[in-house]
Amino acid sequence: MREKRKLLLLLACVLLFFLLTKVFQKKKEEMPPEPEVTVTVIPPEPEIVVYNTRDDMLQVMLLDDYLVGVVAAEMEAWFSMEALKAQAIAARTYALGRAVGKYGSNMERHFGAHVCTDSTHCQAWITKEMYPIWYPKAEPEENWARVEQAVHETSGLILTYEGEIINPMYHANSGGITEDIEEVWNSVKPVPYLQSVYSEGENDYSSFEKSVVLSGEKIREVLMKEYSEIVFLGPVSEDVQVVQFTGSDRVKEIRIGSIAIPGTKFRELFSLSSTQMKIQFIKDDEMEILTYGFGHGVGMSQCGANALAQKGKDYSYILEYYYTGVEIVFIPEEILSSLKTDRQK
Ligand SMILES: [Zn+2]
Repeated sequence: MREKRKLLLLLACVLLFFLLTKVFQKKKEEMPPEPEVTVTVIPPEPEIVVYNTRDDMLQVMLLDDYLVGVVAAEMEAWFSMEALKAQAIAARTYALGRAVGKYGSNMERHFGAHVCTDSTHCQAWITKEMYPIWYPKAEPEENWARVEQAVHETSGLILTYEGEIINPMYHANSGGITEDIEEVWNSVKPVPYLQSVYSEGENDYSSFEKSVVLSGEKIREVLMKEYSEIVFLGPVSEDVQVVQFTGSDRVKEIRIGSIAIPGTKFRELFSLSSTQMKIQFIKDDEMEILTYGFGHGVGMSQCGANALAQKGKDYSYILEYYYTGVEIVFIPEEILSSLKTDRQK
């Protein structure tokens, strides 16, 4: 009797186990599948080390924060948004090309920083507080916001040619045509993306045409300081003559008295706006130099970029127009890791 009860109990247990297993199995089948978990890793914003030449200090900044200060200093903030965006990408490319040591003199003059704020060495840079001092007639809040928008909406974009970061030279006004890089810096070989292109619509800007009047006395004084061997043969109307023009009609070589010097040197000596010039003799020993454009003339013209933007062209059109054959890409990983490595040093 007891054996029978044990057997029944065992059977009941087996049955209960079987039923429970079935119930749980069913429940499991009814449960919705577990959702797939996707982890999005937001890469940290790249940082750049800047040597602030004005305050003589090194500053670590987010790349785009630095670029807002560069674009605000380098381009008029009232320019069209697409021109500002083109400038932002050019400025980012310019800074990173120097940060990785491909162009410029890298860190030699920066006390270990990637770039400096000296416009004659790297790119100009200002703070939001300095903006109204630089541009007293501008709307500081509105203009600063426009520059921020241009930088943030092109964040991470740079220019490459055949996979290599480019050296995006730029200048204020081309005077109607840009220049081949090798005509400005003799030691530089021709660069395919820095060749002369026509640039329309720049004559509406104040930087398009300038006039400088020089007396013979002034010209002789400046040149004698620089070239002790120079001999003057007569008044400037006899002593000054353009010997050769570049393909973009800029002065390549000019003769003054007994010597001939490059047009770029002549521009430097007399602080002229450009080497695209017309020389007129007002008197026997006095001349007027009319210059067209402002700057070296290589790469993107800022006024030309604005003229294209006003015609409805976007930043990629503008950049591809002035830098022939380039691509607009996100900052490659090797450049990002190079910046990180520098920060860890
Ligand atoms: Zn520098």
